[in-house]
Amino acid sequence: MSLTLYLNRRDWFRHMEEMEELYPGCVPVIKGNGYGFGNEVLADAAQKSGKREIAVGTVEEARQLEVSHRFDQMIVLTPVMSELMEVDLVSGRVYTVGSRDQLQFLVTAIDGLLPSGGRGAEEPFRLNLLIKCQSPMKRYGFSLEDAGLLPEWIRTAETDRVKIEIKGLSIHFPKERMTFQEKEKCIGDWLETMKQVGLPLERIYVSHLSSEQYRRLVEQWPEVGFAMRLGTDLWLADKSFITTKSTVLDVQSIRRGERFGYKQQRARRNGHLVYLAGGTANGVGLEAPVTSRGWKDRLKLTAFWLMGLFNFHLSPFTYRGKRLWFAEPPHMQTSVLFFPAGSSLPEVGEELPVQLRMTTAYFDRRVDTGEVEERMNAEENEEKGNPVHLAL
Ligand SMILES: *Cc1c(COP(=O)(O)O)cnc(C)c1O
Repeated sequence: MSLTLYLNRRDWFRHMEEMEELYPGCVPVIKGNGYGFGNEVLADAAQKSGKREIAVGTVEEARQLEVSHRFDQMIVLTPVMSELMEVDLVSGRVYTVGSRDQLQFLVTAIDGLLPSGGRGAEEPFRLNLLIKCQSPMKRYGFSLEDAGLLPEWIRTAETDRVKIEIKGLSIHFPKERMTFQEKEKCIGDWLETMKQVGLPLERIYVSHLSSEQYRRLVEQWPEVGFAMRLGTDLWLADKSFITTKSTVLDVQSIRRGERFGYKQQRARRNGHLVYLAGGTANGVGLEAPVTSRGWKDRLKLTAFWLMGLFNFHLSPFTYRGKRLWFAEPPHMQTSVLFFPAGSSLPEVGEELPVQLRMTTAYFDRRVDTGEVEERMNAEENEEKGNPVHLAL
Protein backbone atom coordinates (compact mmCIF):
# COMPACT_ATOMS: atom_id res chain seq x y z
CA MET A 1 0.00 0.00 0.00
CA SER A 2 2.48 2.58 -1.03
CA LEU A 3 4.29 4.61 -3.58
CA THR A 4 6.63 2.08 -5.09
CA LEU A 5 9.73 2.22 -7.21
CA TYR A 6 10.12 -0.93 -9.27
CA LEU A 7 13.70 -1.34 -10.34
CA ASN A 8 15.07 -3.87 -12.76
CA ARG A 9 18.38 -4.23 -11.01
CA ARG A 10 19.95 -6.42 -13.62
CA ASP A 11 19.42 -3.87 -16.40
CA TRP A 12 20.40 -1.08 -14.06
CA PHE A 13 23.73 -2.70 -13.31
CA ARG A 14 24.24 -3.51 -16.94
CA HIS A 15 23.77 0.16 -17.76
CA MET A 16 26.33 1.06 -15.11
CA GLU A 17 28.80 -1.29 -16.74
CA GLU A 18 28.15 0.30 -20.10
CA MET A 19 28.83 3.71 -18.64
CA GLU A 20 32.07 2.40 -17.17
CA GLU A 21 33.12 1.35 -20.65
CA LEU A 22 32.26 4.76 -22.09
CA TYR A 23 33.89 6.68 -19.26
CA PRO A 24 36.54 4.46 -17.70
CA GLY A 25 37.10 5.32 -14.05
CA CYS A 26 33.99 7.49 -13.86
CA VAL A 27 33.00 8.87 -10.47
CA PRO A 28 29.38 8.21 -9.43
CA VAL A 29 27.61 11.28 -8.07
CA ILE A 30 25.45 10.41 -5.06
CA LYS A 31 23.51 13.32 -3.65
CA GLY A 32 20.21 14.87 -2.71
CA ASN A 33 17.39 12.35 -2.74
CA GLY A 34 19.75 9.87 -4.38
CA TYR A 35 18.11 10.46 -7.75
CA GLY A 36 14.95 8.83 -6.38
CA PHE A 37 16.73 5.66 -5.21
CA GLY A 38 18.13 7.06 -1.99
CA ASN A 39 21.81 7.74 -1.37
CA GLU A 40 22.36 4.48 0.50
CA VAL A 41 21.09 2.43 -2.42
CA LEU A 42 23.36 4.27 -4.81
CA ALA A 43 26.35 3.89 -2.49
CA ASP A 44 25.64 0.14 -2.32
CA ALA A 45 25.48 0.01 -6.10
CA ALA A 46 28.73 1.96 -6.46
CA GLN A 47 30.45 -0.31 -3.99
CA LYS A 48 29.17 -3.45 -5.64
CA SER A 49 30.37 -2.31 -9.03
CA GLY A 50 33.84 -1.88 -7.59
CA LYS A 51 33.97 1.89 -7.23
CA ARG A 52 36.54 3.18 -4.77
CA GLU A 53 35.69 6.84 -5.28
CA ILE A 54 32.36 8.67 -5.23
CA ALA A 55 31.18 12.28 -5.12
CA VAL A 56 28.51 13.49 -2.72
CA GLY A 57 26.71 16.83 -2.69
CA THR A 58 27.27 18.12 0.81
CA VAL A 59 29.39 17.49 3.86
CA GLU A 60 26.22 16.30 5.65
CA GLU A 61 25.72 13.64 3.00
CA ALA A 62 29.34 12.58 3.35
CA ARG A 63 28.90 12.10 7.10
CA GLN A 64 25.79 10.02 6.60
CA LEU A 65 27.29 7.72 4.00
CA GLU A 66 30.54 7.28 5.91
CA VAL A 67 28.59 5.58 8.68
CA SER A 68 27.60 2.74 6.39
CA HIS A 69 30.02 2.79 3.48
CA ARG A 70 33.72 2.93 3.01
CA PHE A 71 35.37 4.45 -0.06
CA ASP A 72 38.97 5.49 -0.66
CA GLN A 73 37.81 8.94 -1.67
CA MET A 74 34.58 10.77 -1.04
CA ILE A 75 34.48 14.07 -2.86
CA VAL A 76 32.25 16.78 -1.40
CA LEU A 77 31.02 18.84 -4.35
CA THR A 78 29.55 21.81 -2.52
CA PRO A 79 31.98 24.12 -0.73
CA VAL A 80 31.69 24.04 3.05
CA MET A 81 30.78 27.32 4.67
CA SER A 82 29.40 26.10 7.99
CA GLU A 83 31.03 24.65 11.09
CA LEU A 84 32.58 21.23 10.93
CA MET A 85 32.55 18.43 13.49
CA GLU A 86 35.09 16.00 14.81
CA VAL A 87 33.78 13.23 12.55
CA ASP A 88 34.91 15.38 9.65
CA LEU A 89 38.55 14.68 10.49
CA VAL A 90 38.35 11.55 8.41
CA SER A 91 41.04 10.72 5.91
CA GLY A 92 39.18 9.86 2.71
CA ARG A 93 37.31 13.14 2.36
CA VAL A 94 38.12 15.49 -0.46
CA TYR A 95 36.69 18.99 -0.22
CA THR A 96 35.95 21.32 -3.12
CA VAL A 97 36.91 24.97 -2.82
CA GLY A 98 36.17 27.63 -5.38
CA SER A 99 37.20 30.87 -3.73
CA ARG A 100 39.76 32.21 -1.30
CA ASP A 101 37.02 32.67 1.32
CA GLN A 102 35.98 29.03 0.99
CA LEU A 103 39.57 27.90 1.24
CA GLN A 104 40.24 30.00 4.30
CA PHE A 105 36.98 29.02 5.99
CA LEU A 106 37.64 25.33 5.53
CA VAL A 107 41.19 25.41 6.85
CA THR A 108 40.13 27.47 9.87
CA ALA A 109 37.23 25.11 10.58
CA ILE A 110 39.48 22.05 10.44
CA ASP A 111 42.22 23.72 12.44
CA GLY A 112 39.72 24.59 15.16
CA LEU A 113 38.89 20.92 15.60
CA LEU A 114 42.45 19.73 16.08
CA PRO A 115 43.91 19.35 19.55
CA SER A 116 46.18 22.25 20.41
CA GLY A 117 48.98 20.12 21.84
CA GLY A 118 52.59 21.20 22.12
CA ARG A 119 54.71 21.95 19.11
CA GLY A 120 55.34 18.96 16.88
CA ALA A 121 53.19 16.81 19.12
CA GLU A 122 51.20 15.38 16.25
CA GLU A 123 51.40 14.92 12.52
CA PRO A 124 49.64 17.78 10.76
CA PHE A 125 46.19 16.98 9.37
CA ARG A 126 46.25 16.46 5.63
CA LEU A 127 43.39 18.37 4.08
CA ASN A 128 42.54 17.05 0.61
CA LEU A 129 41.24 19.66 -1.78
CA LEU A 130 39.93 19.96 -5.29
CA ILE A 131 40.36 23.32 -6.96
CA LYS A 132 37.06 24.27 -8.50
CA CYS A 133 37.49 26.14 -11.78
CA GLN A 134 34.93 28.62 -12.90
CA SER A 135 32.99 27.64 -16.02
CA PRO A 136 30.23 29.49 -17.87
CA MET A 137 27.93 27.97 -15.23
CA LYS A 138 28.99 30.94 -13.09
CA ARG A 139 28.70 28.78 -10.03
CA TYR A 140 31.46 28.90 -7.46
CA GLY A 141 34.93 28.49 -8.87
CA PHE A 142 38.28 30.25 -9.08
CA SER A 143 38.80 32.36 -12.18
CA LEU A 144 41.88 31.92 -14.30
CA GLU A 145 43.16 35.23 -12.90
CA ASP A 146 42.82 33.81 -9.39
CA ALA A 147 44.93 30.84 -10.39
CA GLY A 148 48.18 32.79 -10.28
CA LEU A 149 47.50 33.70 -6.66
CA LEU A 150 46.48 30.21 -5.60
CA PRO A 151 49.89 29.01 -4.38
CA GLU A 152 50.15 32.10 -2.19
CA TRP A 153 46.59 31.72 -0.88
CA ILE A 154 47.23 28.10 -0.05
CA ARG A 155 50.50 28.94 1.73
CA THR A 156 48.88 31.61 3.87
CA ALA A 157 45.86 29.47 4.70
CA GLU A 158 47.93 26.53 5.93
CA THR A 159 48.72 26.25 9.61
CA ASP A 160 51.09 24.16 11.69
CA ARG A 161 48.33 21.66 12.15
CA VAL A 162 46.70 21.69 8.71
CA LYS A 163 48.58 20.93 5.52
CA ILE A 164 46.82 21.17 2.18
CA GLU A 165 47.05 18.52 -0.45
CA ILE A 166 45.73 19.43 -3.89
CA LYS A 167 44.02 16.37 -5.33
CA GLY A 168 43.17 17.94 -8.64
CA LEU A 169 40.97 20.31 -10.56
CA SER A 170 37.23 20.21 -10.91
CA ILE A 171 35.20 21.72 -13.74
CA HIS A 172 31.43 21.62 -14.09
CA PHE A 173 30.18 22.44 -17.57
CA PRO A 174 26.69 23.59 -18.49
CA LYS A 175 24.65 21.07 -20.42
CA GLU A 176 23.73 23.43 -23.20
CA ARG A 177 25.10 26.30 -25.24
CA MET A 178 28.76 25.51 -24.74
CA THR A 179 30.59 23.98 -27.67
CA PHE A 180 33.14 21.24 -27.21
CA GLN A 181 35.82 23.61 -28.52
CA GLU A 182 34.98 26.00 -25.70
CA LYS A 183 35.11 23.23 -23.13
CA GLU A 184 38.40 22.04 -24.55
CA LYS A 185 39.84 25.53 -24.38
CA CYS A 186 38.64 26.00 -20.82
CA ILE A 187 40.35 22.79 -19.75
CA GLY A 188 43.48 23.62 -21.75
CA ASP A 189 43.74 27.08 -20.20
CA TRP A 190 43.47 25.67 -16.72
CA LEU A 191 45.97 22.90 -17.29
CA GLU A 192 48.42 25.38 -18.75
CA THR A 193 47.94 27.82 -15.90
CA MET A 194 48.36 25.16 -13.23
CA LYS A 195 51.62 24.15 -14.84
CA GLN A 196 52.81 27.75 -14.89
CA VAL A 197 52.01 28.41 -11.24
CA GLY A 198 53.54 25.11 -10.21
CA LEU A 199 50.55 23.40 -8.66
CA PRO A 200 50.21 19.64 -8.95
CA LEU A 201 48.15 18.49 -11.87
CA GLU A 202 47.49 14.84 -11.55
CA ARG A 203 43.78 14.72 -11.91
CA ILE A 204 40.94 16.71 -13.40
CA TYR A 205 37.28 15.99 -12.75
CA VAL A 206 34.84 16.93 -15.49
CA SER A 207 31.14 16.53 -16.24
CA HIS A 208 28.58 16.79 -19.01
CA LEU A 209 30.72 15.58 -21.90
CA SER A 210 29.85 12.98 -24.49
CA SER A 211 31.95 9.84 -24.36
CA GLU A 212 33.52 10.84 -27.65
CA GLN A 213 34.51 14.23 -26.31
CA TYR A 214 35.75 12.63 -23.14
CA ARG A 215 37.96 10.24 -25.08
CA ARG A 216 39.38 13.12 -27.09
CA LEU A 217 40.38 14.96 -23.94
CA VAL A 218 42.01 11.88 -22.48
CA GLU A 219 44.03 11.41 -25.67
CA GLN A 220 44.97 15.05 -25.87
CA TRP A 221 46.40 15.26 -22.35
CA PRO A 222 47.79 11.80 -21.59
CA GLU A 223 49.80 13.12 -18.65
CA VAL A 224 46.63 14.18 -16.81
CA GLY A 225 44.21 11.74 -15.21
CA PHE A 226 40.71 12.59 -16.32
CA ALA A 227 37.70 11.50 -14.32
CA MET A 228 34.11 11.93 -15.41
CA ARG A 229 31.48 12.67 -12.77
CA LEU A 230 28.22 10.96 -13.62
CA GLY A 231 24.87 11.52 -11.96
CA THR A 232 21.73 11.50 -14.07
CA ASP A 233 23.43 9.69 -16.95
CA LEU A 234 24.60 6.93 -14.68
CA TRP A 235 21.52 6.36 -12.55
CA LEU A 236 18.65 7.58 -14.68
CA ALA A 237 19.64 8.03 -18.30
CA ASP A 238 17.79 4.98 -19.42
CA LYS A 239 14.48 4.97 -17.57
CA SER A 240 13.40 1.65 -19.08
CA PHE A 241 14.52 -0.14 -15.95
CA ILE A 242 12.34 1.97 -13.68
CA THR A 243 8.59 1.87 -13.11
CA THR A 244 6.82 4.01 -10.54
CA LYS A 245 3.41 3.12 -9.21
CA SER A 246 0.99 4.12 -6.52
CA THR A 247 -1.56 1.96 -4.72
CA VAL A 248 -5.25 2.88 -4.58
CA LEU A 249 -6.04 3.17 -0.88
CA ASP A 250 -9.73 3.98 -0.97
CA VAL A 251 -12.60 4.90 -3.27
CA GLN A 252 -15.50 7.03 -2.03
CA SER A 253 -18.56 8.14 -3.95
CA ILE A 254 -19.54 11.78 -3.73
CA ARG A 255 -22.57 13.76 -4.88
CA ARG A 256 -22.53 17.15 -6.52
CA GLY A 257 -22.50 19.85 -3.84
CA GLU A 258 -21.25 17.55 -1.10
CA ARG A 259 -18.26 18.78 0.86
CA PHE A 260 -15.00 16.83 1.13
CA GLY A 261 -11.34 16.99 2.04
CA TYR A 262 -9.14 19.36 4.05
CA LYS A 263 -10.58 22.37 2.33
CA GLN A 264 -14.18 21.19 2.55
CA GLN A 265 -14.82 22.31 -0.99
CA ARG A 266 -18.04 21.23 -2.63
CA ALA A 267 -17.87 18.58 -5.33
CA ARG A 268 -18.72 20.16 -8.67
CA ARG A 269 -20.17 17.00 -10.10
CA ASN A 270 -21.24 13.56 -9.06
CA GLY A 271 -18.42 11.09 -9.04
CA HIS A 272 -15.80 9.36 -6.94
CA LEU A 273 -12.88 10.39 -4.84
CA VAL A 274 -9.97 8.02 -5.30
CA TYR A 275 -7.28 8.04 -2.64
CA LEU A 276 -3.78 7.14 -3.75
CA ALA A 277 -0.53 6.56 -1.89
CA GLY A 278 1.98 9.35 -2.28
CA GLY A 279 1.76 13.04 -1.45
CA THR A 280 3.88 16.11 -0.97
CA ALA A 281 6.34 14.19 1.23
CA ASN A 282 7.00 11.91 -1.73
CA GLY A 283 7.51 14.76 -4.13
CA VAL A 284 4.03 14.57 -5.63
CA GLY A 285 3.36 18.13 -6.65
CA LEU A 286 0.58 20.07 -8.22
CA GLU A 287 2.42 20.61 -11.42
CA ALA A 288 2.98 17.81 -13.82
CA PRO A 289 6.68 17.45 -14.62
CA VAL A 290 6.72 18.96 -18.09
CA THR A 291 9.62 20.74 -19.74
CA SER A 292 8.44 23.16 -22.35
CA ARG A 293 10.16 22.44 -25.61
CA GLY A 294 8.03 24.45 -27.96
CA TRP A 295 4.89 26.47 -28.42
CA LYS A 296 2.63 23.49 -28.07
CA ASP A 297 4.07 22.68 -24.66
CA ARG A 298 3.86 26.31 -23.62
CA LEU A 299 0.23 26.56 -24.64
CA LYS A 300 -0.43 23.39 -22.70
CA LEU A 301 1.33 24.78 -19.63
CA THR A 302 -0.63 28.03 -19.92
CA ALA A 303 -3.86 26.08 -20.13
CA PHE A 304 -2.92 24.12 -17.00
CA TRP A 305 -2.01 27.29 -15.21
CA LEU A 306 -5.39 28.79 -16.08
CA MET A 307 -7.16 25.63 -14.92
CA GLY A 308 -5.19 25.90 -11.68
CA LEU A 309 -6.74 29.31 -11.05
CA PHE A 310 -10.06 27.50 -10.89
CA ASN A 311 -8.71 24.72 -8.67
CA PHE A 312 -8.38 22.17 -11.41
CA HIS A 313 -4.97 20.56 -11.09
CA LEU A 314 -3.67 17.83 -13.32
CA SER A 315 -2.05 15.07 -11.31
CA PRO A 316 0.96 12.91 -12.22
CA PHE A 317 -1.18 9.76 -11.86
CA THR A 318 -2.65 7.94 -14.84
CA TYR A 319 -5.37 5.35 -15.22
CA ARG A 320 -5.74 3.34 -18.43
CA GLY A 321 -3.37 5.70 -20.17
CA LYS A 322 -5.19 8.88 -19.16
CA ARG A 323 -3.89 11.59 -16.86
CA LEU A 324 -6.09 12.15 -13.81
CA TRP A 325 -7.19 15.31 -11.99
CA PHE A 326 -6.61 16.10 -8.34
CA ALA A 327 -9.76 16.60 -6.29
CA GLU A 328 -7.74 18.86 -3.99
CA PRO A 329 -4.05 19.63 -3.54
CA PRO A 330 -2.05 16.55 -2.47
CA HIS A 331 -1.77 15.82 1.24
CA MET A 332 1.45 14.82 2.97
CA GLN A 333 1.34 11.15 2.01
CA THR A 334 -1.93 10.75 0.12
CA SER A 335 -3.35 12.23 -3.04
CA VAL A 336 -7.06 12.56 -3.71
CA LEU A 337 -8.24 12.34 -7.30
CA PHE A 338 -11.64 13.03 -8.78
CA PHE A 339 -13.30 10.58 -11.15
CA PRO A 340 -16.49 11.97 -12.71
CA ALA A 341 -19.57 9.73 -12.59
CA GLY A 342 -19.65 7.24 -15.40
CA SER A 343 -15.91 6.91 -15.81
CA SER A 344 -14.40 3.54 -15.03
CA LEU A 345 -12.85 3.26 -11.59
CA PRO A 346 -9.73 1.54 -10.32
CA GLU A 347 -10.11 -0.94 -7.50
CA VAL A 348 -8.79 -0.58 -4.00
CA GLY A 349 -5.36 -2.19 -3.92
CA GLU A 350 -4.78 -1.66 -7.62
CA GLU A 351 -1.63 0.15 -8.65
CA LEU A 352 -1.69 3.14 -10.97
CA PRO A 353 1.32 4.46 -12.86
CA VAL A 354 2.64 7.78 -11.57
CA GLN A 355 5.07 10.04 -13.34
CA LEU A 356 7.47 11.68 -10.91
CA ARG A 357 10.55 13.78 -11.27
CA MET A 358 13.13 11.37 -9.92
CA THR A 359 15.32 14.10 -8.45
CA THR A 360 12.52 15.19 -6.11
CA ALA A 361 10.82 11.85 -5.48
CA TYR A 362 10.86 9.81 -2.27
CA PHE A 363 9.37 6.35 -2.49
CA ASP A 364 7.83 4.39 0.33
CA ARG A 365 9.44 1.24 -0.91
CA ARG A 366 11.60 -0.18 -3.63
CA VAL A 367 10.96 -3.52 -5.29
CA ASP A 368 13.68 -5.16 -7.31
CA THR A 369 12.51 -6.86 -10.45
CA GLY A 370 14.46 -8.81 -13.05
CA GLU A 371 16.35 -12.00 -12.60
CA VAL A 372 19.14 -12.21 -10.13
CA GLU A 373 22.38 -13.10 -11.77
CA GLU A 374 25.24 -14.88 -10.15
CA ARG A 375 28.54 -13.23 -9.49
CA MET A 376 30.15 -13.42 -12.87
CA ASN A 377 33.83 -14.06 -13.10
CA ALA A 378 34.20 -12.04 -9.96
CA GLU A 379 37.08 -14.01 -8.61
CA GLU A 380 38.87 -14.03 -11.89
CA ASN A 381 38.62 -10.26 -12.10
CA GLU A 382 39.75 -9.84 -8.54
CA GLU A 383 42.86 -11.84 -9.26
CA LYS A 384 43.65 -9.56 -12.16
CA GLY A 385 43.12 -6.55 -9.95
CA ASN A 386 40.24 -5.30 -12.05
CA PRO A 387 37.24 -3.73 -10.40
CA VAL A 388 34.60 -6.34 -9.75
CA HIS A 389 31.41 -5.85 -11.70
CA LEU A 390 28.46 -7.58 -10.22
CA ALA A 391 25.09 -8.02 -11.73
CA LEU A 392 22.70 -8.22 -8.83
C1 LIG B 1 25.33 17.09 -9.49
C2 LIG B 1 26.63 17.23 -10.11
C3 LIG B 1 27.01 16.38 -11.16
C4 LIG B 1 26.09 15.34 -11.72
O1 LIG B 1 25.10 16.03 -12.40
P1 LIG B 1 23.99 15.31 -13.25
O2 LIG B 1 23.36 16.42 -14.00
O3 LIG B 1 23.07 14.67 -12.29
O4 LIG B 1 24.66 14.34 -14.11
C5 LIG B 1 28.28 16.52 -11.67
N1 LIG B 1 29.13 17.45 -11.21
C6 LIG B 1 28.79 18.30 -10.21
C7 LIG B 1 29.78 19.31 -9.74
C8 LIG B 1 27.53 18.23 -9.63
O5 LIG B 1 27.20 19.06 -8.65
